[in-house]
Amino acid sequence: MAAIAASPEDIRKQFGPHLSASVREGLAPGAPPDKVVKTHCCFCGQQCGIQLLVRDNCVVGFEPWMEFPFNQGKLCPKGVKRYLQGAHPDRLLHAYERDPAAPGGFRPVAYDAAIQRVASEIERIQSQYGPAAMACLSGASLTTEKAYLMGKFARVCLRTPHIDYNGRLCMVSAGAGNKKAFGIDRAANPWSDILGAEVVWISGANIAECAPITTDYVWQARERGAKVIVVDPRLTAIARTCDLFLPIKPGRDVALFNGILHLMIRNDWLDHPFIREFTTGFDELAASVQEWTPRRTSEVTGIAEGPIHQAAQWWGQAKTSFLMHARGIEHHSHGVQNVLGAINLVLASGRIGRANCGYATITGQANGQGGREHGQKCDQLPGLRDIANPEHRAAVAKVWGIEPDAIPGPGVDAYELFRKADKGEIKGLLSICFNPLVSLPDNNFIRRVLEQVEFYVAIDFFLNESARYANVVLPGSLQEEDEGIVTTTEGRVVKINPAVECPGDARQDWRIIQDIAGALNRSRGFRFGSPREILDELRAASRGGIADYSGITYEKIEKQYGVFWPCPSDEHPGTPRLFENGSWNPVAQGKGPFYFPDGKARFNVAKYSPPAEEVDAGFPLMLTTGRVVSHFLSGTQTRRIGPLVDHCPEPFIEVHPLLARRLGLAEGDWATAETRRGACTLQVRVVKTIRPDTIFIPYHWPDRQSANQLTIAAQDPISKIPEYKVCAARLKKAASPEPAASSQGQTR
Ligand code: SF4
Repeated sequence: MAAIAASPEDIRKQFGPHLSASVREGLAPGAPPDKVVKTHCCFCGQQCGIQLLVRDNCVVGFEPWMEFPFNQGKLCPKGVKRYLQGAHPDRLLHAYERDPAAPGGFRPVAYDAAIQRVASEIERIQSQYGPAAMACLSGASLTTEKAYLMGKFARVCLRTPHIDYNGRLCMVSAGAGNKKAFGIDRAANPWSDILGAEVVWISGANIAECAPITTDYVWQARERGAKVIVVDPRLTAIARTCDLFLPIKPGRDVALFNGILHLMIRNDWLDHPFIREFTTGFDELAASVQEWTPRRTSEVTGIAEGPIHQAAQWWGQAKTSFLMHARGIEHHSHGVQNVLGAINLVLASGRIGRANCGYATITGQANGQGGREHGQKCDQLPGLRDIANPEHRAAVAKVWGIEPDAIPGPGVDAYELFRKADKGEIKGLLSICFNPLVSLPDNNFIRRVLEQVEFYVAIDFFLNESARYANVVLPGSLQEEDEGIVTTTEGRVVKINPAVECPGDARQDWRIIQDIAGALNRSRGFRFGSPREILDELRAASRGGIADYSGITYEKIEKQYGVFWPCPSDEHPGTPRLFENGSWNPVAQGKGPFYFPDGKARFNVAKYSPPAEEVDAGFPLMLTTGRVVSHFLSGTQTRRIGPLVDHCPEPFIEVHPLLARRLGLAEGDWATAETRRGACTLQVRVVKTIRPDTIFIPYHWPDRQSANQLTIAAQDPISKIPEYKVCAARLKKAASPEPAASSQGQTR
């Protein structure tokens, strides 16, 4: 199609990021809020309860929501400042069309005209190239109603197999591993089970920055005597307070898990009755870990043998325990194997499905759990159903009022969508709450694809960096402008409540999607009058599936402070802890606790393989990427909130003092990190909290500051998650880059 609509500097001037430091006049003394709305934070998968203070249709502040059980009023810096996005000067108030002559490269157009333009371009592309030439990129920050609607919209309205979502960059390794081992994809326990664990094992999870409220659960467990084991290439904040820190080389987690299991077997720290009665596959797994002696494990992981023995002993001998992990072990070309290795330790111990014995993967995005259950994944239908399974297709087709054959087959993952667009097989893109130019790896390739697609429509509430390449931008809704459900990291379904109306021409996202369907004259099945009506259909479509939401209503959520799925009937209270004796399980039907026909969990051989790109003489360092507490994902929101930008205005490169000395680098020096895909010049932070063979860059920034210029697009063969957590890099001292490329813009 076309290059960017205007220069990045012109676009920034017009559309931001600008910084918001206050809301209008704020909440003046003597001017009480018009209303106080109990809802949830818009950012991470913890979904902390919060009360928004609203005045004159504007969120002007917040109060803690003490009664919400998960966080009991506690919030992290992002939650405290989230109210500053409400009346933000960058908020999109109109639809826009690309116009290089207009300020910032886009001119405002009437909403209806923009919808007509989108419909006519979809018609043109699909009649010229076929239905599959259109693709949808959806988001895991959307409510579950919207995620459901997007899956239906792609398959029923656009009749394309091509929809995937940005949870592909987040939760899919965990999801695939969970399904392989347990037959169900959800944290197995509520977080309250952390409190009574004797041992808490945390692998690849910088929870103090990425899931801060979880830190409180871990520390409460410590105060009750728990031993905390942390495995990470960086001595993160949670690692600094743990009892045993294992500084693993990036990408070697499965080797450690196999080494621990080897010692559990050698010392007979196993729950034989549990293994016999409730699992299959142990003998094959046991044979596979024979080679993982402490010495070999140490050689591969870079962890000394002593701590490996200590970790195995604590884990092996515990009576209660909780193992949790996050993207640190999942963002790998063998992320699913890492997850299976972790689950093997849990199953071998038999400590699951009862109080204080648990396992969880920590979700990243606001609806990282619910967003991966109801059909916006390329291979999925609502209720965690499989789009290739004839019975599953028939069940959903019945609810949708169409023939099963009318549902397209599986599509491809989000990165593959871009490869298909690069090859010319996909001609049109519709994105919603997805900023691939910042969040996908090797993003110079993504830019090239965005420049060449024939038509790109972006739906969002701020003009994110990817939308700079759009032909049409449609103004969607902020979280507080709509209602609906999301599912938290615990598996607890909670309700987002509307606090304000959409401003200007902005619309709730589900209305925009239905308006496009209407303009295409394909509105059958897209005439919902409210999120409640969408939820009613979702409940029916999920009935009988593993993620059964059929008994979940807004009223039950409000009454119970959330409902844990599965919840298969109006009378059912929900399922806080999975795999308990007698808990609802439509697959095993009484044969056992796990979601397979025989009711047994699966041990899986977790195969070790090195990262896709090993270090060599030319690129001798390992680059790993991640988050900081002040920012969230691609930064579309947090890079616009002044106090959060004050906390962390720029990305940086973390370097160990030994490496810094070798390269002649000091704190604050500029250095260029380079990989085979690109280079990025940032200031250096010299820290003792990282391995000397590894550098770290946070990824929330675009353009010349983007860490994802460097990352590799190698993907896990099962989950298709990209390998963000390790690639080969080199580092050298550099001059300060041109100041013009600042991404922050001016405060206003
Ligand atoms: S921990 Fe997550 S949900 Fe809670 S306040 Fe922080 S960003 Fe929001």
